[in-house]
Amino acid sequence: MLSIDRIESGYGLVPALRGVSLRVAPGEIVAVLGPNGAGKSTLLRTVSGLLATRSGAISLNGRRLDGLPAHKIARLGVAHVVEGRGILPNLTIRDNLRLGSFLRASRAGEQEGLDAALDRFPWMRPRLGDLGGRLSGGQQQMLAIARALLGEPKVLLLDEPSLGLAPKIIDELFEVIGRLATDDRAVLIVEQQVHRCLRVATRGYVLQRGRVVLSDSAEALRGDERIERAYLS
Ligand code: ATP
Repeated sequence: MLSIDRIESGYGLVPALRGVSLRVAPGEIVAVLGPNGAGKSTLLRTVSGLLATRSGAISLNGRRLDGLPAHKIARLGVAHVVEGRGILPNLTIRDNLRLGSFLRASRAGEQEGLDAALDRFPWMRPRLGDLGGRLSGGQQQMLAIARALLGEPKVLLLDEPSLGLAPKIIDELFEVIGRLATDDRAVLIVEQQVHRCLRVATRGYVLQRGRVVLSDSAEALRGDERIERAYLS
């Protein structure tokens, strides 16, 4: 269970999160929605330790994460797929995936993880030697997700995975995302594709100016006009 309690963080003197609390349990896909500048990416950066928490607490299964450096937070089971994917374009698919394996406990586990990634994304199998930069935007996003999964995270943070992708590819991507949560893995996803996202999510939070203004089950949020109001105001 990821617990975020009244966290504040920001850039320089500007606070971007003003007391945000949320919970994500294993098996859940939790959506973070809200207009531009609401603080969604900042929330993910604060959880993964790319940005310091100024106050409040973040814990994973009772273990405090706030205050730890990003690499320790990653070792404790938080994987962050940043906006813009962050794969290495000059490395092959195989080497990009290998990079994701460095958090695994054993070399034996590495091959197992690679096999699981290739079962999940069969199109990668014949293309393991292709450079990451030669892939389409949707494929790069899937590679970034596959790489993150190789570290066996307990919480997967996805920052606007659909950004810049064609509608058909976005549908494929959400099918993949809908299958990412397991008994011991949760997904926290920031998205502008509100409706598609709420179709795969279990619950959602709406942020506005650094605060949670609405939270409910995805089903309830799907028909809630307060979401539109949050985006318009
Ligand atoms: P978007 O969908 O536009 O990315 P968001 O909800 O993810 O929106 P954030 O990127 O988290 O919003 O930004 C929250 C606030 O922090 C905004 O006011 C933004 O201008 C500010 N901000 C974000 N990144 C920086 C930065 N590197 N330096 C200074 N201010 C920043």
